[in-house]
Amino acid sequence: MAILNLIFEDDPMLRRVSRPVEAVTPRIEQLLDDMTETMRANNGCGLAAVQVGVLRRVVVIEVEPGEVLELINPRIIAWSGHQEEQEGCLSLPGKWGKTKRPAAVVVRAEDRTGREIEVRGDGLLCRALCHEIDHLDGKLFTDVLAEPLDDPQKDKKR
Ligand code: ZN
Repeated sequence: MAILNLIFEDDPMLRRVSRPVEAVTPRIEQLLDDMTETMRANNGCGLAAVQVGVLRRVVVIEVEPGEVLELINPRIIAWSGHQEEQEGCLSLPGKWGKTKRPAAVVVRAEDRTGREIEVRGDGLLCRALCHEIDHLDGKLFTDVLAEPLDDPQKDKKR
């Protein structure tokens, strides 16, 4: 496994749409392994392939420590409710803000064996699923803010 280099907010690649994975090749399996290691090394709870410069529809999420979700070609097939909670992103270091997200989603994807899986999430898992799937369509959490970004300099300005 290897820790991959992240790309950051000013990189236009983050705004591009990722391509579907047609077959899980050894290269995709390696990518999944490396993405998990990279997410953990950066203390993240989710990572999309585009964030390591790979425009493929691949996501890893670890909301419960030790339980890594590997999602290939994930898509939201149902959602309900509404939540507004804090979110951040490994590609936007130091930025935090409240986003508008569904309260719960159902996501369909393939796993690394190519089998179709369904994941249901609410709370943080729901936010992570929405956030990472947005990355695959070139969207960032700053596009769905419920209120302006938290300003880390706020206290100093007062
Ligand atoms: Zn992100």
